[in-house]
Amino acid sequence: MTKSSVLLIFTGGTISMGENPDTQSLAPLDSAQVLSFIPELQMLHVDISSVSFMPLIDSSDMQPDEWTRIAETIRDNYDHFDGFVVLHGTDTMAYSASALSFMLENLTKPVIFTGAQLPVGVLRSDAKENLITAIELAAAKDEFGNARVPEVCLFFEDKLMRGNRTTKRNTEEFNAFASFNYPELAKTGVHIKYALPAIHRDNVPKPFAIQTNLDTHIAILKLFPGIGEETVRTILSVNGLRAVVLESFGAGNAPRSEWLFRLLKAADDRGIVIVNITQCRAGSVEMGRYETSVNLQRAGVVSGNDMTLEAAVAKLMYLLGQHTDSQQVKRYMQLSLRGEMTIN
Ligand code: ASP
Repeated sequence: MTKSSVLLIFTGGTISMGENPDTQSLAPLDSAQVLSFIPELQMLHVDISSVSFMPLIDSSDMQPDEWTRIAETIRDNYDHFDGFVVLHGTDTMAYSASALSFMLENLTKPVIFTGAQLPVGVLRSDAKENLITAIELAAAKDEFGNARVPEVCLFFEDKLMRGNRTTKRNTEEFNAFASFNYPELAKTGVHIKYALPAIHRDNVPKPFAIQTNLDTHIAILKLFPGIGEETVRTILSVNGLRAVVLESFGAGNAPRSEWLFRLLKAADDRGIVIVNITQCRAGSVEMGRYETSVNLQRAGVVSGNDMTLEAAVAKLMYLLGQHTDSQQVKRYMQLSLRGEMTIN
């Protein structure tokens, strides 16, 4: 079989940092320095090339403009590589992987985000294993020469997950990410075991394209016992606001206060799209199951089912960038566009 080719896109984060021997402080390394820590890459039967953000950034500084740079880099190199690995800080990796899953349309090649909890240049780092395996996964093809995982994914420790289903769950453990509501796409151990039924594949793929028009006029409204009318009113009256992710209790429930209903309904009447997701890590919103979510339905709030916060934020930015009509945005929010939510 011919060698696969993979493009590494260095954006920054801990994975591409090393310890300054004089000061012991962590500082970014360039891509050549990072790769020099991993001589094992020579043993992979893969042609590896790389491009790098200048400067490399901490992922807390990631913005939609950087997502656009990643998308454009993939578009410009799409025909020349079999797969892509994005080296990224862990803090906002789940947001970036979610955003790219929407921005990259009709994807037929793997785009694998990975990072590390410990810098590549320190002992016991998880960077080496994560990067080597991410490259193997990005290069992997089946017996017909098709990519094994033609999706935007996130690989960490021993799990390949659909990117828009992931959440950073731990600041210290190597097992830092989880996909609470969707099975892993592959599990790596002695062998790489692919969960074929869980992997999405378009049977009649359309031409690959990118969408970079994102609208960030959204807010997150997290409910808590005691939340006040003034707080909710202030959030819902932010200038230019077009959508709100409402983080509700349990299966999508909220206090039954008259003022909350009134404020949400008024926002819906003004064309603000309100999407209900749960504060729980796992499970889904089921509006109407309890009396405490009936008012939300009456106010025009739509269900985000089992979407992660990261996916809901990214999906709204993507849809608001394509549609001016809030009814259209509401309609698409309730469809699964990239396998980001379960439709029952
Ligand atoms: N602050 C770092 C980042 O997200 C943390 C990491 O990479 O793990 O860029």
